Amino acid sequence: MNFRASVLTLHPEMFPGPLGFSLCGKALSGGLWSLESRPIRAHGIGTHRMVDDTPAGGGPGMVMRADVLAAAIDEASPAHDKRPRLLMSPRGAPLTQAMVRRWAKGPGLLIVCGRFEGVDERVIEARGLEEVSLGDFVLSGGEVAAMALLEAVVRLIPGVMGKEASGTEESFENGLLEYPHYTRPAEFEGRTIPPVLTSGHHGEVAKWRRAEAERITRERRPDLLKKDL
Ligand code: SAH
Repeated sequence: MNFRASVLTLHPEMFPGPLGFSLCGKALSGGLWSLESRPIRAHGIGTHRMVDDTPAGGGPGMVMRADVLAAAIDEASPAHDKRPRLLMSPRGAPLTQAMVRRWAKGPGLLIVCGRFEGVDERVIEARGLEEVSLGDFVLSGGEVAAMALLEAVVRLIPGVMGKEASGTEESFENGLLEYPHYTRPAEFEGRTIPPVLTSGHHGEVAKWRRAEAERITRERRPDLLKKDL
């Protein structure tokens, strides 16, 4: 197995969900990666399997207990496990293609999905959890974020995408957003395809695509042009 994903969640039945379809799903059933979703509640306290409690200092909502999460993490990922341990969190580093690329080369990931107000800070420190955010908005749980992250990573695992090339020209791979795509029909509601794309001049096509990628990036995401990828 090239890549092993372990997801710790209060809702293990949500997985594989979308990850069971299409490219990722085929790679999953083909054994190019593995996925286990582990119920945090199995480590809950008492007959009610409590996983959360009221926040110290007061305030609304509930906080996931450090001891419960630590037990779940330790069972899923013993000390010799080399996989990075992530916590999905709006406070985390925003997910980028560079992070995705790095994890796709590794042995897999352990991903903790938060719920409620989030998790006790002490387990983040004690288990070295790396906080990762899907973006500057708040979801009600880490599961959908974990699925998005895994879908981005899995498609880059060697052998998952048909043509190796289809990963290299995409948005973010060269610090630019992608150029526009066209296909048949030649005319759609009066709109034609840029003539250079049907000219057969590969050099001109490449030049046009590069210029369009730069234009679109400048217009939509000038911040990317300043980034060193
Ligand atoms: N009170 C927290 C939000 C908790 S949302 C705060 O203000 O920061 C509950 C859980 O959803 C989080 O623990 C996290 O696992 C997940 N989550 C919410 N938004 C997310 C985001 N943008 N990226 C990744 N995970 C997110």
